[in-house]
Amino acid sequence: MLHIKNLTSNIEDKTILDGLNFDVNKGEVHAIMGPNGAGKSTLAKVLAGYPAYESNGEIWFKGQNILELEPEERAYLGLFMGFQHPIEIAGVSNSLFLFSALNAKRKAENKPELSKEAFQGLLDEKMEIMQIKKEFQDRSINEGFSGGEKKRNEILQMLMLNPDLAVLDETDSGLDIDAMKVVAKGVNLIRAPEKSLVLITHYPRLLEYVKPDFVHVMMEGKIVHSGDFSLAKQLEEKGYDFLISEAHS
Ligand code: ADP
Ligand code: MG
Repeated sequence: MLHIKNLTSNIEDKTILDGLNFDVNKGEVHAIMGPNGAGKSTLAKVLAGYPAYESNGEIWFKGQNILELEPEERAYLGLFMGFQHPIEIAGVSNSLFLFSALNAKRKAENKPELSKEAFQGLLDEKMEIMQIKKEFQDRSINEGFSGGEKKRNEILQMLMLNPDLAVLDETDSGLDIDAMKVVAKGVNLIRAPEKSLVLITHYPRLLEYVKPDFVHVMMEGKIVHSGDFSLAKQLEEKGYDFLISEAHS
């Protein structure tokens, strides 16, 4: 699904990702944890094709090196990214945005456009799952949404676009326990043998609901430690310092 080899990314002459290697197979859920400033969001943005970074190395997605592809080309291939800080887009309604995005993807896949009616049925179903009130379809994207509403809206977008690989950047942060459960339900819905997930998170709490197959720790622009779910629990108890002292002993 995803094969990242020796990825280096710079912004304004500052090296953020520093020789990162990372592999995700079909059907796997990977969690990436790590201290603030480790480069986790940078990795997500570089994967999505955010243009401000100057990157070198290889990013293979479903057999294709996507490093030079535009963000929309990556999305058409089945990549989705949920933002740590979802942006507000005034003047574009949630439903028009999703309708356009979904049909653009279907067009790229040589599938017929969804009719307004078929789209509406799908949207109603997914909004109910994410417990987003109907009025939110006509509101501008994320404008005036609470933190929790923005995060649930990210998962709504994911469910509508039905990606093969979703990278979710701290979709759980700032959520109360009920909103967390709703987000976890949405995330679990996309779990399938032919799909993969990368969850970037600070907290093991989401991982209790969406059990990852692997947990990685990122520091200073690379993955420095990998393990299973027990690593997340260990980090919760001991913080990241024990890995640093381990690395130097
Ligand atoms: P994380 O998500 O792990 O907390 P980020 O990927 O957001 O970390 O940031 C990694 C590092 O990149 C931080 O030190 C941050 O200050 C730096 N960074 C991000 N954007 C810029 C920028 N435009 N110019 C310089 N440094 C940046
Ligand atoms: Mg971040």
